[in-house]
Amino acid sequence: MFDLAKIRDDFPILSRKVHGQPLVYFDNAATSQKPIAVINSITDYYDRYNSNVHRGVHTLSGEATDAYEGARAQIGRWFGITDPGEVILLRGATEALNLVANTIAGELKRGDVILVGETEHHANIVPWQQLESRLGVTVVPVPVDSTGMLDLKAAKTLCEKHPVAVIAIGHVSNAIGALNDVEGFIALAKENSAYSVIDGAQAAPHMLVNVKNLQADFYAVSAHKCCGPTGIGVLFGRRELLERLPPWQGGGDMIDRVSFSGTTYNELPWKFEAGTPNIADTIGFSAALRYLESIDFAAAIAHENRVHEYLIDSMLNRNTVDVLGNPERWVSVCSFNVKGSHPTDVGTLLDQLGVAVRTGHHCAMPTMEYFGLPGTVRASIAFYNSIEEVDRFLDALDRVTGMLSS
Ligand code: PMP
Repeated sequence: MFDLAKIRDDFPILSRKVHGQPLVYFDNAATSQKPIAVINSITDYYDRYNSNVHRGVHTLSGEATDAYEGARAQIGRWFGITDPGEVILLRGATEALNLVANTIAGELKRGDVILVGETEHHANIVPWQQLESRLGVTVVPVPVDSTGMLDLKAAKTLCEKHPVAVIAIGHVSNAIGALNDVEGFIALAKENSAYSVIDGAQAAPHMLVNVKNLQADFYAVSAHKCCGPTGIGVLFGRRELLERLPPWQGGGDMIDRVSFSGTTYNELPWKFEAGTPNIADTIGFSAALRYLESIDFAAAIAHENRVHEYLIDSMLNRNTVDVLGNPERWVSVCSFNVKGSHPTDVGTLLDQLGVAVRTGHHCAMPTMEYFGLPGTVRASIAFYNSIEEVDRFLDALDRVTGMLSS
């Protein structure tokens, strides 16, 4: 049984007040809150065994290395990956996507086309655009349809017309919450001998993702959206590709031997992890995944989907708001505007009533351009949110709407 009250007690921040009101935290797409188990795992590391990992001969370094590499194994297992060489620990989804763009750059040739979803986060657009002038490749958007889903049929047509070398797609769009047909896009990439690159930052917090079964070439995840700490994320990549591709950053840990007559590189995954890694937060991320396991993640997600559905139904029935998109498969997010009001005004007034939402372009300016909007208000749900919080949010929204129209 999913015991929401018990779950909420695990998140100390959820009981705080903002402007004298109980907090309603609906900014989960920006970052999730952290359970006490994650906070404790980080302080425990610094309290008891803080030390640099790898090559240390003393006890603390051994303990830190075991915890760090154990965390890697745990993170891999959660996502269906058993080979630790395919689990590259990085700063976040942004760094993961930049790593992919910069390492497969050497395999691209002038005239190649990179298909990028029109609804991508800037982290899955700009690294590809940066290759355009450097390599003479072209970024072509995969169009979004009016519901907010990326159009697989249109992508097929683009593949018939262009020499497509990469298909880079978000699993779930952060500005709309559309769950895209990633399986279809990955299959399309395979048919065209193109690399498939999936930005999973907004999917991993809301569903169990088995990266092995998806068979994407690369899959990027961000810990801080999954109840883990900031500054840590993962790039999953297929071993044979990662072995072939050159390292991105150079420095300690990523080498085998360094000499002025020639340097050789470490094996996977360390070849892609130059410098001292984010040890504490890697341990924190694995604590987050252990926590999700302990609460019965499937039951938590079923609850979250009920809360999200209730939010969406309530918002679609309100004639004072316009909701962005209406995708067939919809996750966590409700992006909207109050008719005749600027999103920043709505968000600022909601905050006065204790409700935390995000406003603006959500790092997805092309999505806003497609819908002809400067931005939206985005409410995004996590499994620790409740139906009562949706009701409080709706009351607050009605009050704000009244204030702005008077
Ligand atoms: N992609 C998507 C879809 C996102 O929502 C985000 C975070 N807003 C990112 C990438 C960037 O992730 P990170 O914060 O881990 O760099």
